[in-house]
Amino acid sequence: MTQVEKREKPPIFYDTHAHLDYPEFAQELPQVIARAEAAGINKIISIGTDLESSKRAIKLAEEFPHVFAVVGWHPSNAMEAPADFRPALRELARQPKVVALGETGLDYHRLPSASLKGKIQEPAAPGPPNAQGQEDDERYKQKQAELFRQHLEVAAELRLNCVIHQRDSLQDTLAQLRRFADRVRGVFHCFANDAATMQQIVAMGSLVSFTGILTFKNGQNIRDTLTATPLDQFMLETDCPYLAPVPYRGKRCEPAYVKEISEVAAQVKGCSLQELSRATCVTAEKFFQRL
Ligand SMILES: [Zn+2]
Ligand SMILES: [Zn+2]
Repeated sequence: MTQVEKREKPPIFYDTHAHLDYPEFAQELPQVIARAEAAGINKIISIGTDLESSKRAIKLAEEFPHVFAVVGWHPSNAMEAPADFRPALRELARQPKVVALGETGLDYHRLPSASLKGKIQEPAAPGPPNAQGQEDDERYKQKQAELFRQHLEVAAELRLNCVIHQRDSLQDTLAQLRRFADRVRGVFHCFANDAATMQQIVAMGSLVSFTGILTFKNGQNIRDTLTATPLDQFMLETDCPYLAPVPYRGKRCEPAYVKEISEVAAQVKGCSLQELSRATCVTAEKFFQRL
């Protein structure tokens, strides 16, 4: 071993998207964070999904030096959100360890009409058979769009960026973000779209981030997208407790597993772990300004 190699520190990575406040971690959070640190994952961003979850994320950030918080209201929970979430967002964002707003965005994966399917429809119901379901879907989408806009407005006002969740709603999400693109950058987390979509996002000044799906046998399309993504335009995340990478697939995920994700990402990019570490950490520090 040469002198240089001896002096080189192990590569450091950040978990830029974790749900540490979820009940899956309640029994052993200090151990989960210690395992992450031992694996070289020395910053973890805990993402809020509603008001209470965001408050818990802030509390964890106050308690653990390596933990930071993102505060917001997940689109899938939009119907439970207040009509105007902006005052609460402004208040939450005052905490110095809040590094962005989110996760916010649009999610059309499970629309209300989907849960009506299979149920017996009243024959006497007015209008065409699916009118009620379509109305519910419309109301749900409108509420999500309104909530997303509120996050973007407050982000622009406070000069923070947004962690963006989109599922089956790409065009609407891009269109909404585009209106704020001169003031707010977004990271499309758990990115699973193609290279052309990644390029549209990067062209707007936004970023993408990759989860353990990168390591899945059937994740070749996502590895192809990563191949096309410039080294300074993406971050790594677990989205734990979900999406554990190989060889933990199917188990509860935790921030330490960014290590496994980084190993596959370095292979795909054809770079060293040190290069990947430097690039992704600098990208994260620029995006999450208070990190
Ligand atoms: Zn998400
Ligand atoms: Zn998430």
